[in-house]
Amino acid sequence: MITITDKENCMGCYACATICPKTCISMESDNEGFWYPVVDHARCIECGMCVKVCPIIQTPHKEREQGKKPLAYAAYNKDDTVRLDSSSGGLFTLIAEEVLSVGGVVFGARFDDRFNVIHDYVEKVDKLSDFRGSKYVQSRIGDSYEQVQEFLQQGRLVLFTGTPCQISGLKHYLGKDFDNLLCQDIVCHGVPSPKVWQKYVSYRENRAGASARRIAFRRKDRGWKRYSVSFLFNNNTEYLQILHQDLYMQAFLKDICLRPSCHACQFKTVNRESDLTLADFWGIQNVLPEMDDDKGTSFVIIHSEKGKQLFERIQRSLVSHEVDVWQGIQYNSAMIRSAKRHPHRDEFFEQLDHKRIDILIRRLCRDKFPVRIKRKLVAGVRLILEKLGLLETAKRVLRRGRSV
Ligand SMILES: Cc1cc2nc3c(=O)[nH]c(=O)nc-3n(C[C@H](O)[C@H](O)[C@H](O)COP(=O)(O)OP(=O)(O)OC[C@H]3O[C@@H](n4cnc5c(N)ncnc54)[C@H](O)[C@@H]3O)c2cc1C
Ligand code: SF4
Ligand code: SF4
Ligand code: SF4
Repeated sequence: MITITDKENCMGCYACATICPKTCISMESDNEGFWYPVVDHARCIECGMCVKVCPIIQTPHKEREQGKKPLAYAAYNKDDTVRLDSSSGGLFTLIAEEVLSVGGVVFGARFDDRFNVIHDYVEKVDKLSDFRGSKYVQSRIGDSYEQVQEFLQQGRLVLFTGTPCQISGLKHYLGKDFDNLLCQDIVCHGVPSPKVWQKYVSYRENRAGASARRIAFRRKDRGWKRYSVSFLFNNNTEYLQILHQDLYMQAFLKDICLRPSCHACQFKTVNRESDLTLADFWGIQNVLPEMDDDKGTSFVIIHSEKGKQLFERIQRSLVSHEVDVWQGIQYNSAMIRSAKRHPHRDEFFEQLDHKRIDILIRRLCRDKFPVRIKRKLVAGVRLILEKLGLLETAKRVLRRGRSV
């Protein structure tokens, strides 16, 4: 039966709990707020099924590397409304719409009514917006793998979207290939703790004096590259702060609250188990400046014939350009490298139940003084250039400077 001896070796993918014929594995939160399988030994019949489906136990990292170079693209959705509502270039929505248009089912991550992030499915286009946009919290898989299996067995086309480890968990649970299954993963920096997220939501609600009505991690009010976190509250006030100034994003991007497995991620490979991978095309201004209008450009990597056909079917709604896969990866190391643990990660989680979340993040994640000064100076200069209408010219000059 499954035994967790090293937390870096469990991604909380739910495959073991879902397969257990005695339903004697429950996924329980540890003191950091991450789910791990807990076996009820009294009911276990030692069938070994849980061990057989665990992606970490069954498929060591190196076996997944096939050494081929996948097709890759810079792309964005021609529909600006969807694109601005999405984290990157709005490709997810196009892919999902294509699947729904032939009677398919789409699985993805959404908020529940208390802003926990959960996996769920939709069958109608008007519900897709629930999945749109990155939620920087680990999503709870729950019953999703079982539901996927049921739809597949009914002959429905299924699109499953999620982190690379969730895709791997699903594939191991299913145990065989299905022609009617499409999988889309993301380049995944890592997933923060749901407990830290809930503490942050409560902190923001207390500050606002009202409960949150809508939360978005990637608003593009100040552009895609300087995206903002937004909370809309029931008293009609809004909190809107760019990524470097939002406390939760500081904690996330400084790697102080990620799941332990994200620091030793076995899924950071160029070739993947999914049919296609979506990411931000950071660095697009240097690779294909004509595709950078700061509204969001996606980096798309195709891994299979099914992925290629799907991408071809959405071509008419896209602006896209083929690139060498390494042109995208060079600006997105999260594709191939795990995030390093923050030196104060352990202290952060030890103090989490005792200190206020804002105080803790400010104390442990704050940038050093020179970095703060530099950021303030850059923001100041940027603001002045923006007001003078010279920002785009300055960017062009800088780019030209870098390329000579
Ligand atoms: C935790 C996390 C870390 C990421 N790290 C990186 C990174 O380091 N570099 C990079 O380039 N891109 C990263 N991304 C992906 C990127 O931000 C975009 O989501 C992706 O490029 C798709 O964008 P889109 O515009 O096509 O669609 P969008 O509509 O923005 O994306 C929605 C898709 O994201 C999925 N999703 C949202 N939240 C979660 C979640 N918590 N767990 C699983 N799936 C989720 C939805 O199910 C849906 O498939 C990350 C996303 C998440 C959720
Ligand atoms: S060995 Fe079988 S019965 Fe026991 S926990 Fe694993 S799957 Fe369940
Ligand atoms: S990685 Fe998935 S299958 Fe393996 S122990 Fe963790 S939750 Fe279970
Ligand atoms: S970094 Fe790796 S282990 Fe962590 S959520 Fe992403 S794919 Fe899973």
